[in-house]
Amino acid sequence: MHDIQNVVILTGAGISAESGIATFRGPGGLWEGHRVEDVCTPQALIHDPELVHRFYDLRRAALADVVPNAAHEALARLDREWPGELLIVTQNVDDLHERAGATRMLHMHGELNSALCAACDARAEWRECLPPGSACAACGVDALRPDIVFFGEMPYRMEEIERAISRADLFVSIGTSGAVYPAAGFVQTARYHGAQALELNLEPSAGSVYFSEVRMGAAGVLVPEWVSEVLGS
Ligand code: NAD
Repeated sequence: MHDIQNVVILTGAGISAESGIATFRGPGGLWEGHRVEDVCTPQALIHDPELVHRFYDLRRAALADVVPNAAHEALARLDREWPGELLIVTQNVDDLHERAGATRMLHMHGELNSALCAACDARAEWRECLPPGSACAACGVDALRPDIVFFGEMPYRMEEIERAISRADLFVSIGTSGAVYPAAGFVQTARYHGAQALELNLEPSAGSVYFSEVRMGAAGVLVPEWVSEVLGS
C-alpha cells in the first residue's frame, strides 16, 4: 500500500445494514415496504406530498434508534489517521458516518437531517417532522421538502467527486449494489485514471468485473480488517 496516497471511498446502504437500517433493495425490491417510484421521485412529491414527507419523517425518526457500526467506526479511524488525501462519498441519507466521527465526507444523495427549499434552494438542518408546506426561513415561501436526491435529479457535489476520483490511487466501494448511476460508474472513471479498485460487499455488485479486487462479506468485518491493513496496524 506504500504507493497509495489518494483514496476515494464510496459507501451505500450495505454499510448501514448492520446498524439496523434496511437497504434499498429489500424483499421484493421495496424500500421499507414502498415502491421507489412512490417515495423517491419528483412526480411522487407532486402527486402525494403527504406520503413522501411522512416516509422521510419516519426514516429521520428512526435514526434515533441506531448507532454507527464497526465499519463506520473504522472509516472514521481511517479519516483521522490517513496522511494522504481521502474522500468518503456516501449514497446514504443517514448520518452514521459523521456520528462515528468522519469529517472528510459528503452526501451525494442528500441527508435526512436537512430540509431543502424548492423555491430558493436554501438548506436548513432539520431534526423534526417536516410537514408539506413548511415555510423556508430564508425566503418565506412554504416550499420546504426533504433534502433527498430523487431519481431523475442531479446528485450533489459531482464536480468535487469527479475531481477526487481523477486524482485517486485507490477507489473503494463498500456495500452498494452498483445499480444507481452515476455512482455505479465511479469505478470505471477511477480505473480510467489509473486507480486500483477494491470492492467490499456481501455479494458481487452489478459492476464487480471492473474492480481489481473483490472481497465478499459483512462490512462490519471486512472494513475494519481492510483499514487495519492500509494503516499497518
Ligand atoms: P442497495 O440497497 O441497492 O444495495 C445494498 C448493497 O449492500 C447490496 O449490494 C448488498 O449486497 C450489500 N449489503 C447488504 N448488507 C451488507 C453488509 N452487512 N455488509 C456489506 N454489504 C452489504 O443500496 P445502494 O447501492 O446504496 O443504493 C440505494 C440508494 O438508496 C442510495 O441512493 C441511498 O440513498 C438510498 N438508501 C439509503 C439508505 C441509508 O441511508 N442507510 C438506506 C436505504 C436506501
